[in-house]
Amino acid sequence: MITTGLIGDPVAHSVSPAMHNAAFAHYGLPDRYTLWPTPAAALSGRIAALRAVGMRGANVTLPHKTAVIALLDELDPVAAAVGAVNTIVRLPDGRLRGLNTDVAGFLRALAQAGVDAAGRTALLLGAGGAARAVGYGLIMAGVAALVVANRTPARAAALVDDLRTSAGPATRLTATALDDDALGAALAEADVLINATSAGLHAEALPVPEAALGPRLLVVDLIYRTTPLLRAAAARGARTQDGLEMLVQQGALAFEAWTGLAAPLEVMRAAAHVALKEQV
Ligand code: NAP
Repeated sequence: MITTGLIGDPVAHSVSPAMHNAAFAHYGLPDRYTLWPTPAAALSGRIAALRAVGMRGANVTLPHKTAVIALLDELDPVAAAVGAVNTIVRLPDGRLRGLNTDVAGFLRALAQAGVDAAGRTALLLGAGGAARAVGYGLIMAGVAALVVANRTPARAAALVDDLRTSAGPATRLTATALDDDALGAALAEADVLINATSAGLHAEALPVPEAALGPRLLVVDLIYRTTPLLRAAAARGARTQDGLEMLVQQGALAFEAWTGLAAPLEVMRAAAHVALKEQV
């Protein structure tokens, strides 16, 4: 019985079905999670179908995370602040509520790596949807200073402006260009480096000066596999984490919102790992 799925375009390479179907099976539930490839013109119809009795909800990915908001009945405060929804929950009366579990998923992944962002200094690469969720997560966790660096600097500046409305007055927020000479200095001061750009899996050049990577850093790459950046960081003694843990954590929060059951994290993590390996 299909009760959940992933709405996006494209969705073919997602490991979410493996992860959620393993979680449903763990509880002996008849639910299935499927892929719903959805071009923009089909989005409103797809969302309307979630209102049917028996549906639990959906995940939403590129390019619909913002556009979907207008089709929902209510938003949780985090999704409203970020301006993006990655999870829809069908309420018992058929109304649809939008959540953003990427934010808490990122923070839980950080915690899994042993890092509490409170009072820390972070360098965030990217200013797209994922960077936006990470930026809000870091602000919510009480980061002391955050530099956002992006290929298109105007987008970094726009994200920093948005984050300012949620940040405390003492939080130092800076926007810069990815190729700015100051990036090395920003990295030298950082406790955490997060790559939230979609570049990097096969990139020849690292997005930051390699010499500034060192043992004091946690380096997170939201890409699901080990990247050249993570390899270089590990070689220089930094702790590293790829994007799979954030994916699992945001999925676990979605599962809990749909079912009210504790997410079987180990089961979901193992299923995601296997599905990702099968794609190689
Ligand atoms: P997005 O909204 O399209 O943003 C893409 C970002 O990457 C922008 O900042 C863009 O810069 C930058 N970028 C793209 N190509 C680049 C290049 N060649 N050089 C430098 N910067 C480049 O995408 P997104 O949703 O934020 O996703 C970003 C990455 O995060 C993807 O790899 C995605 O798979 C991953 N992700 C992971 C999770 C997770 O749970 N682990 C969740 C969401 C996303 P411009 O602004 O200059 O275009």
